[in-house]
Amino acid sequence: MGALQVAIVTLFPELFGPFLETSFVGRARSGGQLQVHLEALRQHGLGKHRTVDDTPYGGGAGMVMRADCVVAAIEAAEAALGARTTRVLLTPQGRRLDQAGAAELAARPALTFVCGRYEGFDERVRAFVDAELSLGDFVLTGGEIPAMAVLEAVVRLLPGVLGNPESATRETFAAACDGLLEHAQYTRPPEFRGLGVPEVLLSGDHAKIRAYRQQDALDRTRARRPELLAAGGRRRE
Ligand code: SAM
Repeated sequence: MGALQVAIVTLFPELFGPFLETSFVGRARSGGQLQVHLEALRQHGLGKHRTVDDTPYGGGAGMVMRADCVVAAIEAAEAALGARTTRVLLTPQGRRLDQAGAAELAARPALTFVCGRYEGFDERVRAFVDAELSLGDFVLTGGEIPAMAVLEAVVRLLPGVLGNPESATRETFAAACDGLLEHAQYTRPPEFRGLGVPEVLLSGDHAKIRAYRQQDALDRTRARRPELLAAGGRRRE
């Protein structure tokens, strides 16, 4: 499998520097699992000031990102990658990112993330993208942090990126864990400020530990995110 090719269309490419160099994303790039192209939206702006926004038709607060500039940037990014990509618009109005959505994107060969600013995009941009993703039901100032979040969720699912591939299948939301929250984790010291560790985890009895963890995952999912049990049709008593 070749590298996942990713383009990021943004007014602020400089925000991505350390993020792209660090930890798994950095390693995926140097290991050949990920190729990233940053497309500076400003280069597709108009006039002396390379303007990419304008006032909204019909009036109203703020500025709107022009469709012609945004689409030109998407097309330039794809030309740079040499690929038609799955184009993902970051917007609070999109489908909320979840683990299944991250896995879908990780299976694609090439992605473009389009980061908004100001009051968001001219509606006609939507005719030129394949998906709209939201980080959650809150509004940020720009799409750059959402793009990083989606990219990080995707990259850790690429084959060979995590040192131990089980890490991605044995964790919160993973299909192999029935989409439950992960069980509680402990490490040394065995006692910290009066707080101990469940005896069973120190017992060395792997069958008992497995059973304890399964029950703990179920209990904490029921307590914290009961809708996950309902969504998976896995109401286990
Ligand atoms: N006026 C827009 C609305 O009400 O839907 C919000 C625009 S927001 C201030 C500017 C940009 O930040 C958006 O175009 C989007 O790219 C990004 N953004 C803000 N919140 C986001 C979220 N929850 N998920 C993804 N992107 C978000």
